Amino acid sequence: MTPYDASSPQAAKAGAPALIDGFGRTVSYLRVSVTDRCDLRCVYCMAEHMTFLPKAEVLTLEELDRIASAFVSLGVRKLRITGGEPLVRKGVMGLVEALSRHLKSGALDELTLTTNGTRLGEFAGRLADLGVQRVNVSLDTLKPDLFRRLTRGGDLSKVLDGIAAAKAAGLAVKINAVALKTDNAAELPHLIAWAHGQGLDMTLIETMPLGEVEADRTDQFLSLRDLRRDLESFWTLEDLPLNTGGPARYARIAETGGRLGFITPLSHNFCEACNRVRLTCTGTLHTCLGREDASDLRAVIRSGADDEGLVQAIRWAVDAKPEGHDFQIARAAPAVARHMSTTGG
Ligand code: SAM
Ligand code: SF4
Repeated sequence: MTPYDASSPQAAKAGAPALIDGFGRTVSYLRVSVTDRCDLRCVYCMAEHMTFLPKAEVLTLEELDRIASAFVSLGVRKLRITGGEPLVRKGVMGLVEALSRHLKSGALDELTLTTNGTRLGEFAGRLADLGVQRVNVSLDTLKPDLFRRLTRGGDLSKVLDGIAAAKAAGLAVKINAVALKTDNAAELPHLIAWAHGQGLDMTLIETMPLGEVEADRTDQFLSLRDLRRDLESFWTLEDLPLNTGGPARYARIAETGGRLGFITPLSHNFCEACNRVRLTCTGTLHTCLGREDASDLRAVIRSGADDEGLVQAIRWAVDAKPEGHDFQIARAAPAVARHMSTTGG
């Protein structure tokens, strides 16, 4: 298949450059999940025994490139590759290399990756060579035993080595930690101080009710508002005006000098400025993380649509982006049946 040509006559003909939804929000950020598979099984993300998708359902690397590049032609300036664990997808560096052409052409401002870090030791240098400047690494604890339990078998030392390799390659690393009431709440100040001591930004995430997992989410849920109050009993947090169009709010901790983000998806406060959409590894476009809305872009391209048809399908999907999400942690059932590993975090 020929890669999507963002400067082709069809792309130019397809209409105005910007992707604007029905509420006037410009979509400039696409997250692309390249696999539903992972080498870890984090307790809040996956069930212990997951059934993964058959290969035929997952987009090929060429198809992922084609769809992502169509978004770039429509004005998306930031791409984040995620999963599942993106670095376990065979050939993923070929996709990163293909997408990096949009960095070189100036069509894209940023190409980034969210990873669990286990394979960063192997890939960090190549990522940096291809123009990736930052990676998000998910890490919920610095205790090897707890790490093994939370990830159902993971080896903390691989992640720490991966982070060191990323830093050595010149990548900016941000640590993401899910705040879990009983498991890591007491340890979070230590984790934050460690990250800031290494010169790394850190972001805390509230658990989201995505997909069935064994644990009871109402037990795991820790309100970041309460956590912030605890942190403020011994640290000085100054709010930062930084707004990335997502659910994160940032503060600087005077004592550590580092930046701390709070992702509170259960509050509605970010939907008005939401600039992002998500593509699953099966080609389903979700325009809201917390809604069941979905557009099947795989069907569009596998039915033989040309670039104009693809662009039109994307425009229709974005036009129907919901105004806001519908999460409520207190519900027994997940608000959204798909797992985070399918949608891409
Ligand atoms: N495997 C990569 C990783 O762990 O960074 C990328 C995919 S993972 C699904 C992306 C992010 O989603 C991770 O930071 C993870 O902690 C977070 N996540 C997974 N399930 C979640 C849930 N139910 N609630 C909140 N965050 C979740
Ligand atoms: Fe894998 Fe990331 Fe989900 Fe953990 S959070 S199971 S590392 S996809």
